[in-house]
Amino acid sequence: MATLEIRDLHVSVVTEDEPKEILRGVNLTINAGETHAIMGPNGSGKSTLAYALAGHPKYQVTSGSVTMDGVDMLELSVDERARAGLFLAMQYPVEVPGVSMSNFLRTAVTAVRGEAPPIRKWVKEMKGAMSELDIDPAFGERNVNEGFSGGEKKRHEILQLGLLAPKIAVLDETDSGLDVDALRVVSEGVNRYKSASTQTGEGVGVLLITHYTRILRYISPDFVHVFAAGRIVESGGPELADELEANGYERFTGAGATA
Ligand code: ADP
Ligand code: MG
Ligand code: MG
Repeated sequence: MATLEIRDLHVSVVTEDEPKEILRGVNLTINAGETHAIMGPNGSGKSTLAYALAGHPKYQVTSGSVTMDGVDMLELSVDERARAGLFLAMQYPVEVPGVSMSNFLRTAVTAVRGEAPPIRKWVKEMKGAMSELDIDPAFGERNVNEGFSGGEKKRHEILQLGLLAPKIAVLDETDSGLDVDALRVVSEGVNRYKSASTQTGEGVGVLLITHYTRILRYISPDFVHVFAAGRIVESGGPELADELEANGYERFTGAGATA
């Protein structure tokens, strides 16, 4: 059973001046089969957490630890983290000019599975996964993220999620820029992968990072954490998201907040 453990994580962003501390002691444990939502105001450091987990060079871990089943993730390269079963969908996925989606995904799947899927099997697998997400078959021939709309980028992320079959998935602002239909398709994709992973064994652990509560109507979290000023300031069940929906983040950021 996969467990991701984040312990007293401190992260600074490297800027032109001096490094600025953004994460100030994040503690979080995600077990197989659990869905955790991190919610917080803009600028509180949510994406910084995702980037630090992804190993982005601009985000420097100054202390604390991130382990998966006891293995130090911070010592691993970006590829090694993916092979270990950690999946990170980024808020702003990068463009890869000159590389088709189909080739990009096959390379990613090869890296994670340790062997290249046979081409005919692969084409079938990819087409099946694409049709489940209402993705146009022509998508496979387009360059990675080049000229993709916000919704297409998000569908691409969830397509990757299903094909890479990670143990722990970190989804940053998967809901941003989606209209209601796209949000439903993307959420159904996440839920389909959640239940598929449960059937084949341990169940994926999901960390859903979001500013808005609306995606939580489609993907129900087991735990909700409020993020403010670089750390988790409160944790609870789904009812905490309802409270945030009603009252916003003021209790956590205004005068008297504990952050
Ligand atoms: P959130 O995702 O919660 O909106 P971010 O993690 O994007 O928050 O940002 C947290 C803080 O870190 C902000 O003050 C932001 O300006 C700063 N920050 C994040 N990334 C960078 C960067 N690459 N360069 C400079 N500042 C950054
Ligand atoms: Mg600390
Ligand atoms: Mg963000």
